[in-house]
Amino acid sequence: MQTYEVIIVGAGSMGMAAGYYLAKRGVSTLMIDAFDPPHTMGSHHGDTRIIRHAYGEGKQYVPFALRAQELWRELEEASGMKLFSQTGVLSAGAKDCAFLQEVRESAERYSLPLEVLSAREVRERWAGINLPDDFYACLEPASGYLYSENCIRAYRDLAVASGAELLVHTKVTSLQTDQEDVIVHTDSQSYRGKKLLVSAGAWNSPLLHSLGLSVPLVPTRKTVAWFGAEESLYSSDRFPAFVFQLSDSIYYGFPSIDGSGVKIGRHDGGQAIDPDTLERTFGSFLSDEGDVRGFLETYMPQAAGALRQGRVCIYTMTPDEHFVIDRHPEHPGIVFAAGFSGHGFKFASAVGEATSQLLLDGTSTLDLSIFSLSRFSS
Ligand SMILES: Cc1cc2nc3c(=O)[nH]c(=O)nc-3n(C[C@H](O)[C@H](O)[C@H](O)COP(=O)(O)OP(=O)(O)OC[C@H]3O[C@@H](n4cnc5c(N)ncnc54)[C@H](O)[C@@H]3O)c2cc1C
Repeated sequence: MQTYEVIIVGAGSMGMAAGYYLAKRGVSTLMIDAFDPPHTMGSHHGDTRIIRHAYGEGKQYVPFALRAQELWRELEEASGMKLFSQTGVLSAGAKDCAFLQEVRESAERYSLPLEVLSAREVRERWAGINLPDDFYACLEPASGYLYSENCIRAYRDLAVASGAELLVHTKVTSLQTDQEDVIVHTDSQSYRGKKLLVSAGAWNSPLLHSLGLSVPLVPTRKTVAWFGAEESLYSSDRFPAFVFQLSDSIYYGFPSIDGSGVKIGRHDGGQAIDPDTLERTFGSFLSDEGDVRGFLETYMPQAAGALRQGRVCIYTMTPDEHFVIDRHPEHPGIVFAAGFSGHGFKFASAVGEATSQLLLDGTSTLDLSIFSLSRFSS
């Protein structure tokens, strides 16, 4: 059986980044993926992902977001690929919106650039936004969106160039520990690793279970769709990425990139699914198009044109919607990164770096305690 210093199970957003940082440190690394990343079966496809720094989900994420942004910049340089577009991100909501309050407090605490705009100021600046008078918005000019599939391509190329091995179309079927090592069984062969990273996205639960870990994860069906939009109002050279916090729903979206149309998704809700039997056809449910079209007709009417395309993707939710990044309580050489709850991509670079440090150094430069598994045990 071949032995590696580290084996990574799941080379998607988090795993591929970790593979790069491990290989860069000269560690013999095997990355195994059930598909051929980037691909359309997990959580990273659909071209783009928003990156925000002043974090509405909790200011404890800000150091992570800033480190992640720094690492994306480094990755752009190292790969020569365009990975980030600084369009700014506009977060909008009602005057008493807790998310916007947290955005403002995050910006203040970490001295991040942030413009707070009234509804009238928003309408004057972006004629394509029909923001009601009892709303306001925060514009984060330093943020924008990442080309998620290209980010994974860049990490893949550089990880392999740095000596990591990548097995694609190889499904890990179970994980096992013995006195010293971890044994990774795939549908074709088994491999031995001194250390292990489990980063299998929507498929994490059964794999972690085979290591005796119970992590509360709910894979959830999500959709995104692109709609024809008036380019003079919504093209990426003049329109930001956006997040709208409504009273009973949350929508996010992207400007029209090279004439793609406006891409939009609904963040809350979605059906709990099994990733192996997921209904992957966009439009199978009326709400796939109906939900987001309804949002556009109200708030961005000139972007509610013909449906251009739709995609089905997976969120893996935790009960508190915060991530789980931790070490196995009995096997410190086993690290897992799971439950990214629909907002993890922006952090993938920092998660890759932090998990590589956890594996090699036993600790990471970023504080991971907020992501501990033990928070669920009480
Ligand atoms: C529609 C949508 C929009 C989103 N928007 C944003 C956004 O704007 N900003 C943001 O920050 N985040 C966003 N997210 C969330 C973000 O994309 C995810 O949190 C992130 O991609 C999760 O990464 P991952 O590594 O856990 O999963 P993945 O990237 O899916 O990687 C998991 C990998 O594990 C592999 N795998 C699974 N099982 C096995 C096995 N048994 N053997 C071998 N390999 C296996 C899979 O093939 C896959 O490649 C969005 C997600 C979706 C679905």
